[in-house]
Amino acid sequence: MVQIKPLLLSLTLAQVASFVSAAASTTNGQDYWQSFKSNINPLNVTLPKITQTVSINPTQECTYYDPDTALFNIDPTEWPSIWEVATTNGMNTSAEFTALYNSIDWTKAPNIPVRTLTSSGSLDFTGYDANTDPDCWWSSSVCTVPKIADVNPDIYYCPEPETWGLTYDDGPNCSHNAFYDYLEEQKLTASMFYIGSNVVDWPYGAMRGVKDGHHIASHTWSHPMVTTLTNQEVLAEFYYTQKAIKLITGLTPRYWRPPYGDVDDRVRWIASQLGLTAIIWNLDTDDWAAGVTTTVAAVEESYTDFITMGKNGTFANSGNIVLTHEINNETMSLALQNLPAIRQNYQHVINVATCQNITYPYFENTVSFQSFSEYLGLNTTSSASSSASSSASSVASSIPISAASGSSPSSGVASKVSSLSSTSSSTSGAVKLSPAYIGLALVAVAGLLI
Ligand SMILES: [Zn+2]
Repeated sequence: MVQIKPLLLSLTLAQVASFVSAAASTTNGQDYWQSFKSNINPLNVTLPKITQTVSINPTQECTYYDPDTALFNIDPTEWPSIWEVATTNGMNTSAEFTALYNSIDWTKAPNIPVRTLTSSGSLDFTGYDANTDPDCWWSSSVCTVPKIADVNPDIYYCPEPETWGLTYDDGPNCSHNAFYDYLEEQKLTASMFYIGSNVVDWPYGAMRGVKDGHHIASHTWSHPMVTTLTNQEVLAEFYYTQKAIKLITGLTPRYWRPPYGDVDDRVRWIASQLGLTAIIWNLDTDDWAAGVTTTVAAVEESYTDFITMGKNGTFANSGNIVLTHEINNETMSLALQNLPAIRQNYQHVINVATCQNITYPYFENTVSFQSFSEYLGLNTTSSASSSASSSASSVASSIPISAASGSSPSSGVASKVSSLSSTSSSTSGAVKLSPAYIGLALVAVAGLLI
C-alpha cells in the first residue's frame, strides 16, 4: 500500500540570514527587491472578513471587492495597465524602473532576436532550426538547459521517485475559496504561479495562498508569449509582478513560470538579472482547454494516464512536475476530482520548493520551506538536506516516457509527456546560496505539447 504522509509546511524564522543577503547581492540588479514596500507579515496573514464566493459552480465566478486600504493602497497610476504589457501606463519611464534598467549591463545580454507571432497568433518558427536550437527555445525544442553561461537553468521535474509536483497557474482569483479550502483540509501545498494583474485585482486570493503555506511564484504581469517581448518589456513583466506579489503578500519570489512555457536564453538571461529561475513541467494536463479547445473527457483521460504513471514504473527513479491551473471552475473541479486518486497512486504530492529542496524560495529570509527530508519527517538537523541531496544524486537512470522525437509543440502530435534522462546533484549550501539551484540535468529532448 502506498502510504501518504501528511504534508506539513514549516514557516520558520531563517536561522542564517547571511545566506539570503549573499544571494541577493551577487549581481547588480538583484538588490531591487529591497526597496519594495509591504504592510503584510507573511508569517501572520489575517484575511479581511468579506463575503467571497465559495462555490466552484462556473456560473458563480468572481464578485468584485474593494481591498482594505489599511493593508495596501493600490494606486492605478503606479502600476502597469491590468492585463496589458507591463511597460504600459508609463511604467517603462518610472524612476524605479529606469534605475533598475540602467543597473543592468545590457552589453552582456545575449543577442537573440525578439520572436514574432503569425497572423493566427501562434509563435512563428520560420527560419529557426529546432535541431540545433541555438537559443534553447523551449517552445521550439523543449530545451531546459541554457546554452549560454551565467543563466539559471530551468527546473522541470521533481528528483524524488513517485513524486507528483503539484502546480497551479494563473491565479489568484476571487472565487477559488472552495479549491483552497480543499487543499487546506487535505494538508496539500502547491506551487502557485500568480499573474501580477490578478494579484492586484484579487489580492485576498494571493494572501490566502501565503496564509495556507503554498509556494508562491511569478507568472508575469500580463501572461504574454514572453519571447515576443523586447528586453525592456520582459524586464517590466518581471519587475512589476515581483513588486505586486511583495506588496500583497510580503514576499518576493525567486521562481517564475513562463506562460505557455515560452522561454529562451534571452528571457532566461533577463530573469537571471532579477534572480529568477524558471519552473517548467514534464507533464501537461491541458486542463485549461477543457470545454474550450478540447473536451473535458480528453483532459480527464490525461489525468488518468498521469495518475497511472505513479504506479506503473514511469516514475520509479524520479518524479514529475504537472501543469494544471486554477484559472476557472472547470480546471478547479478537475483538480478536486482527481486529487484523491493522485494521492493514492503517488508516494508524495508536494510543492516544487520542497521536492527540489529549495528551502528559501523567496528573497526574504523570514519564510523557509521544508527540505524533502524534513517533509518526510526524517532527521531535521543539519544532515537533513544532505540526506535529501544524496537521495537525489542517486537519480541517474534514463526514464523514457512516451518519446515523440521531432515533434514541435505546435505539431499536434498527441504526446503531452517529455522524455527525459536526468542526473542531479546538489548540496544544502548550494540550495541556500544560489537561486539557480536545480539538479543539473541533461534532457533528451522529445516532443511536448503545451
Ligand atoms: Zn498561465
